[in-house]
Amino acid sequence: MCWPRCGRVRAEPVEIIESIEDLRLARRRLSGRVGLVPTMGALHPGHLSLVDHAWDENDVVIATIFVNPAQFGPNEDLSAYPRDPDGDLAKLTAAGVDIVFTPTPAVIYPPGFQTYIEVTEVSQGLEGAHRPGHFRGVATVVAKLFNLTQPDRAYFGQKDAQQVAVLQHMVRDLNFPLEMVVCPTVREADGLAMSSRNVYLNAEQRRAAPVLYRALQAAAAAYDSGERHPQRLREIVRSVVADEPLGLADYVSVADARNLQEQDTETDAPLLVSLTVRFGQTRLLDNCLLPFSLNTREHLGRVLGAG
Ligand code: AMP
Repeated sequence: MCWPRCGRVRAEPVEIIESIEDLRLARRRLSGRVGLVPTMGALHPGHLSLVDHAWDENDVVIATIFVNPAQFGPNEDLSAYPRDPDGDLAKLTAAGVDIVFTPTPAVIYPPGFQTYIEVTEVSQGLEGAHRPGHFRGVATVVAKLFNLTQPDRAYFGQKDAQQVAVLQHMVRDLNFPLEMVVCPTVREADGLAMSSRNVYLNAEQRRAAPVLYRALQAAAAAYDSGERHPQRLREIVRSVVADEPLGLADYVSVADARNLQEQDTETDAPLLVSLTVRFGQTRLLDNCLLPFSLNTREHLGRVLGAG
């Protein structure tokens, strides 16, 4: 494959927009199918895979870069979150994106802002339990981006599976006229899920970090051999992580992938196995669906958050 993709190279430079007014004007000018790729920047090939998927099935691609204060807790890494505006624009230009929306927090949350969206049930467990208010911030900003860009399709990564489930519900419950597309997690060669936060890892922690994927693979292998008991699957994941002295498992979850309810008894439901592991101050997140054959774009969108 050539890069930027053959036939996708834009004749005109990418349009960079910072204000709501300019975005609305630009949106009115667009015709054809519009794909939206929302991000927080510090872009890596995982993000760019969403752009590729968007290119495959839309006439226009809009990417957004916004580090959303509303989804960070008071003790989280908002001010330290990696930022690379010039690198991001170069990557999005090379990827052939048409419009990049990069608002400041004051544009998204002007003085007097007081309207938030809560997706109540599916936001509660997993990341929601560890990061109070996180999904309220995510749902609110994504709803605003949907309203502003009016996409036909919006692209999200499996990497943030609960985010997908929350947004699937929001789209259904509030009748957003768009299709959610869920793209498989892009990994480094050693299995580590690509993440903007991986830059926080020191060399030793980076070498240890593929333990998350190894733990998921161990659960998948047990599942393939017939193991269906959620508690035993959790123990398998925990025991792989416990063998890695630099990593400390935060939570390990085996939930029904459709509603994210934690499972306690043997089940044939599609399962979302997810875990977070701390390496010093850095908390990494990963997941997979079981059966493992469900980890394709075709199934992810149908299963995650479906019930
Ligand atoms: P973020 O910038 O972390 O908010 O991520 C923006 C979008 O990229 C979200 O839909 C993420 O789920 C997705 N994403 C992040 N990392 C990956 C990855 N390794 N593979 C695929 N998608 C990803």
